[in-house]
Amino acid sequence: MAMGSRRSFASSMILNPEFSSFLPNQNHYTLKQLEDDQKILYVITQNVDGLHYKAGNKKVVEMHGTAFRVICLGCDYEIDRHEFQNILEEMNPNTTVESQDVRPDGDVEISEVRSF
Ligand SMILES: [Zn+2]
Repeated sequence: MAMGSRRSFASSMILNPEFSSFLPNQNHYTLKQLEDDQKILYVITQNVDGLHYKAGNKKVVEMHGTAFRVICLGCDYEIDRHEFQNILEEMNPNTTVESQDVRPDGDVEISEVRSF
């Protein structure tokens, strides 16, 4: 597999557990309050971490999509990201990935990928 693809799959594998453990911060809750008070209509974000939904906002436009659903661009097949994670891990039982940093927009710094 080409190095770019290896890193892309590796990023995807580590994104899921990382993002699932993230919690909204005060900024997310402030935007939730602003929506409740009808001071704003929408939150538009480039982040893919789903934290605006976790904070309770209902009207969120995710410009770069979300890390919580995977959709095939060929046939529109859709799968829950957690379910997809299980498949990735099943198909790559000997792969370990170490990350340094996961940013809210989904970019990941990968220090090492073994056995993709
Ligand atoms: Zn497909």
